[in-house]
Amino acid sequence: MSGLVTCAYCKNPTKRANGDGEHPIPEAIGSPIKNKEICQKCNDDANTLIDTKYIEDKFIDFIRRFAAAKNKKKKRLTYSEAALFDGEVKAHYGEGGIYFELTPDKMAELQTIFGHDEILPLKEVKFTDEEIIKKEHAKMLLGLTSKYLPDFIISKTADFLRNIIWGKQVVGEIPEHNLLIIREEISRDIQDEDLIKYIDEYGYHFFGYFTNDEGQLEIYLEIFGCFYAYIKTIEKNWDKDINKKMVINPYFKKTIIDGPWTF
Ligand SMILES: [Zn+2]
Repeated sequence: MSGLVTCAYCKNPTKRANGDGEHPIPEAIGSPIKNKEICQKCNDDANTLIDTKYIEDKFIDFIRRFAAAKNKKKKRLTYSEAALFDGEVKAHYGEGGIYFELTPDKMAELQTIFGHDEILPLKEVKFTDEEIIKKEHAKMLLGLTSKYLPDFIISKTADFLRNIIWGKQVVGEIPEHNLLIIREEISRDIQDEDLIKYIDEYGYHFFGYFTNDEGQLEIYLEIFGCFYAYIKTIEKNWDKDINKKMVINPYFKKTIIDGPWTF
């Protein structure tokens, strides 16, 4: 036929990209995966309206600089270099994720709002633009699932994700989902070497899906071991052997596991 494919982000017919294609997980946070079946307009819009804003988010900027996913030189900053935001915030990595320590001024300001002690869990401090992170997660889920499972593109569940991505009103049936879960456990103050170890041990990106007993596709995402998102499809007629799991090491920009999900 014409050799056209369906763009997962807008459902319009398009040619397969000759060049780089779209990175469902931005390259700037260390993912090598490309979807070449995204039209040029969506590729450009995803870059300017979503990826660029996402990467400028203070939290994402901190963690990608620390994980050295930012540049090809793979230079890992020290904890203190990476952790300073506008001179008023320091970040602490704990087993459960990232916590912020604040300067006295910022502390006083926030204490009037939250009434907390020295270290606040990320969840309670709005340094992160949650809306842009949700959009980015929706784009990741849609772009990755569509790449490996093209049937997903025409699903109602994909329509839902497209509406989130492009900020359109969500109409129709809403799938069970959570586009932004922030890991929270007890934090501990740690040194550079510990932080490097944390990133090396836990700071991976994860993407995977499988068909559950109800016939729904369950799709999971994890970014830097800190942010999670998932969605269960409205559709309940997926083949029961659909199953994929990928782990990406952002430091080496490399997929280190690509295989079936084991239970
Ligand atoms: Zn498109």
